[in-house]
Amino acid sequence: MAEILKGNVVAAQIKEKMKKDIEELAKHDKIPTLAIVRLGNNPGDVSYEKSIIKNCDNIGIKSKVFERDVNIKTEELIELIEELNKHDNISGILVFRPLPSHIDEEIIRNTISPLKDVDCMHPLNLERIFEGDMDGFAPCTPKAAMEMLKHYKIPLEGKNVVVVNRSMVVGKPLAMMLLKENATVTICHSRTKNLEEITNRADVVVVALGKAKFFDEKYFNENSIVIDVGVSLDQNGKLSGDAYYDKLSPIVNKITPVPGGVGSVTTSILLSQVVLACKNI
Ligand code: NAP
Repeated sequence: MAEILKGNVVAAQIKEKMKKDIEELAKHDKIPTLAIVRLGNNPGDVSYEKSIIKNCDNIGIKSKVFERDVNIKTEELIELIEELNKHDNISGILVFRPLPSHIDEEIIRNTISPLKDVDCMHPLNLERIFEGDMDGFAPCTPKAAMEMLKHYKIPLEGKNVVVVNRSMVVGKPLAMMLLKENATVTICHSRTKNLEEITNRADVVVVALGKAKFFDEKYFNENSIVIDVGVSLDQNGKLSGDAYYDKLSPIVNKITPVPGGVGSVTTSILLSQVVLACKNI
């Protein structure tokens, strides 16, 4: 039976450290404050927002929601973000993505102050990751996956790590973080041939396709460590990862569950970056 790598203990550890930092900031009359910019009422965004606000309240981070119409003009959104950039009481800015199709995401990414960019949208912050500087803001999901690997002391140096995803929010930055830890990294995607062969040879496989239960036992063996970043609904409408958990947990070495794995660390990473932003301002 696989060791189950749960996210809650990892999140709790990050929160403990954050509490100390927040107390220290309070001595200098600083309160970390997150501005959430939401366009429209997408149920996924609203539910993520509720969870962020609850987590912020629990730990002593202020949050302010800036809800705007989904048809907002690009210029109006730029104006709002520029105001938030200037506002001394706002430490970090989170703009929910994907943005409506009429808004040019490239312009918005470049508008957020790199100093308040807690979701790592700005090209300058992403560039730092690609240069191997991991001390600034990072995209939250790959950083959460790295924190899971670190917490469970999974060796990375010289290990073969496969990432099945090449997006800018998950696969590419994650590959850079793994390289920084001296892993030998292979990135796979929809055009990859012989995926089964590649995942079977790996020491660690990070899956992030967004296809529920895609990875069954033919992709893995008894030595496999599976980090599941995928979140989607299965045929029965149940939240599921990319890994077929019930089939894999009896045979692989280690696996992260969904829900309760990487996803439960992501919000803590976001909040820790709000605290970091507050320290830097
Ligand atoms: P995305 O942009 O759609 O990326 C999916 C990736 O999977 C692409 O690189 C795609 O390849 C690859 N892929 C698709 N089908 C494949 C196949 N049959 N074989 C091999 N590779 C295949 O999605 P994303 O935004 O990166 O998100 C990925 C997943 O992570 C989603 O389930 C999302 O919900 C989840 N996610 C989780 C968190 C969290 O906190 N846990 C946060 C963000 C996202 P191509 O590039 O060739 O299309």
